[in-house]
Amino acid sequence: MDINQLIEKFIKHNCYLEMGAGKIAKQFNSNIDDVIKSKIIAKNKLKYGTEYNPKDVAFKSKPILQVTIKKDTNNNAKILLFDLETSPIISYHWGTRKQFIQPENIIRDWTILTYAGKFLNEDIMYSGTAKDEEDFDDFNIVSELWGLLDKCDILVAHNLIGFDRKKLNARFLFHGMNPPSPYKLVDTLQIAKTNFGTTYHKLDYLSKFIGSSGKMEHFGFDLWKKCMDGDEASWETMLAYNKKDVIELEKIYLELRPWDNRSPSISIFQEDPSMCCTKCGSKNIVYKKDVYTNTREFKLYQCNDCNGWSRSRSSEGKIKALMTQ
Ligand SMILES: [Zn+2]
Repeated sequence: MDINQLIEKFIKHNCYLEMGAGKIAKQFNSNIDDVIKSKIIAKNKLKYGTEYNPKDVAFKSKPILQVTIKKDTNNNAKILLFDLETSPIISYHWGTRKQFIQPENIIRDWTILTYAGKFLNEDIMYSGTAKDEEDFDDFNIVSELWGLLDKCDILVAHNLIGFDRKKLNARFLFHGMNPPSPYKLVDTLQIAKTNFGTTYHKLDYLSKFIGSSGKMEHFGFDLWKKCMDGDEASWETMLAYNKKDVIELEKIYLELRPWDNRSPSISIFQEDPSMCCTKCGSKNIVYKKDVYTNTREFKLYQCNDCNGWSRSRSSEGKIKALMTQ
């Protein structure tokens, strides 16, 4: 039987959903991966209706999407800070040193195990885990993350560009979801690498470097192994670890933000964008001095809230030189 026939069978006869995938694969002469995939799709169709389409579910099935994002006083931008934990890849391999593992030797590819995320200056911590799903299927938590990303104007994570965003996009693609509405990217790892010669640029190190408490202690890779073995306590630890990372991320983001000149300007999100801090959106800014480029003059302001520097828009300046180098 192919996937479509299996899905039809499972919807008509729910009892198959309780049977092991291996047994079903043998009975219907199907591939075990097709059986696992079909069971997930059939379960979701039963849950959300037969017209179920992952693309729609990504929009409307999650209560999280109904949450109204509060705007903080300084800032009209919806800034989402998040972190995710992925499972290890399980594979057959011949040795323990440098190996190239062919796709057919992958037993279980990586998926997302847990996520945590919060909007800047809000107390609500959103989080999710794949612990109760069959084979830790991440469809539900990926849908929730999709909803959060779709709501945000700016997405912040540590190693966002190198890791989190690509991992997440891969899972969106896998589950057949559309791209969420566009958002701007802030990667605290890149800000740290660009601006600071700290010995390490890891989240844990940076957190302690700025005087915070660092990441939560755990038992290293054993935690991931125990999660994959279905150990409840380890899943709880994983989620708590994930949430603590987001709390530390927020602190690091706020500390690094005034130093960073490459991230998207916050002032564009304000109702009156002309006179507020480009780093945090505060109106509490003071004029410090005039500054010059080769051709223009600008007014330089410092923010009394975040201490970051912003220049007035070029339209306020006058052309200082008609000839350039
Ligand atoms: Zn500011």
